[in-house]
Amino acid sequence: MTVYCFGSINIDHFYRLPRLPAPGETLAVLDHATGLGGKGANQSVAAARASARTVHLGAVGRDGAGMLERLAALGVDCAGVVQRDDMVTGHAVIMVDDAGENSIVIHPGANRAQDLGAVQAALAQAALGDILLLQNETDLQPEVAELAIGKGLEVIYSAAPFEVEATRAILPFCNMLVLNAVEAAQLSEALDMPLEDLPVETVVVTRGSDGADWIARGAPPIHMPAFAVTAVDTTGAGDCFAGTLAAALDAGLPPTDSMRRATAAAALQVTQHGTAEAMPDADAVAAFLA
Ligand code: ATP
Repeated sequence: MTVYCFGSINIDHFYRLPRLPAPGETLAVLDHATGLGGKGANQSVAAARASARTVHLGAVGRDGAGMLERLAALGVDCAGVVQRDDMVTGHAVIMVDDAGENSIVIHPGANRAQDLGAVQAALAQAALGDILLLQNETDLQPEVAELAIGKGLEVIYSAAPFEVEATRAILPFCNMLVLNAVEAAQLSEALDMPLEDLPVETVVVTRGSDGADWIARGAPPIHMPAFAVTAVDTTGAGDCFAGTLAAALDAGLPPTDSMRRATAAAALQVTQHGTAEAMPDADAVAAFLA
């Protein structure tokens, strides 16, 4: 089976500075590094590292070849990614000062210029029961979800970065919604209904060091406690959880086992610095759970 992940690919530019610049100020950086980023890319890497055959669907610009090489090196099939010469790849400018404070700006670039025809062509290979995983950093999410659910794929929507209207628009085409506790409370309040009543088969709520909950129609809820670890960087924990959960479900694991694997992978991920590059592989998760 296959996990298709429709989502963003970013070039993350990290600039280390003595302090964050004030408005109108120009500062020289102490250090610069680039890395693979974007919630879509992070979740693809998490699914691939968890041993799922993972095909990324998305778009990069003329400067995106390096990120595709990185994704491929981490086990992700990039055949479904469109390269556009008329655009730049989505990128984030991340300024970090010596106290660890940061300021971030993101240019979505090619992430917001997706090609439905290319997605359709890639999904022509999909089989019944394959998974489509998607997030909120592209355009065309409802269209792609509708296409996938119409072809009999299981659609998992990781509703981040969270927007009520985007979530409302995509819900009719999802089997599963994954969101964090703050987002779950916002959605429940905006739609004026408890999570159990949302028009989707399964809602998974992640709760940081309090673990995660699986709430499915007509079944008792499952709570999975978090593993006790020393967290050094929780950036990307939600992406690690969503990608690993998709991979476990794709492998046919039942809900409790899938939640356990996702919770274990995310626990390992927060013990490392970084996002995509910090996703643990299946062997590390198996050893952690042994
Ligand atoms: P982020 O935006 O940082 O990617 P998020 O808010 O989407 O994260 P969280 O709910 O914070 O997602 O974390 C996702 C999962 O990661 C949790 O359900 C839990 O399993 C694991 N996790 C997060 N923080 C910790 C921690 N401090 N210790 C152990 N596990 C953690």
